[in-house]
Amino acid sequence: MSNYRKWYCNCRGKPLELSPVETADDEPVEAICQRCGASPSSDPKHSISYKDIENWDD
Ligand SMILES: [Zn+2]
Repeated sequence: MSNYRKWYCNCRGKPLELSPVETADDEPVEAICQRCGASPSSDPKHSISYKDIENWDD
């Protein structure tokens, strides 16, 4: 079993699931909102939220 985190952005009034985006080669993959550009590490409007998902398939 493993856990993973789903990220959401509420900039449009309802949670929009973010998909992880590959950044530079050495940087970790981060979820970024395609609409407002917010990400978990850069969230000036506090529109980012997350949900931890348990994956029982492992
Ligand atoms: Zn957004």
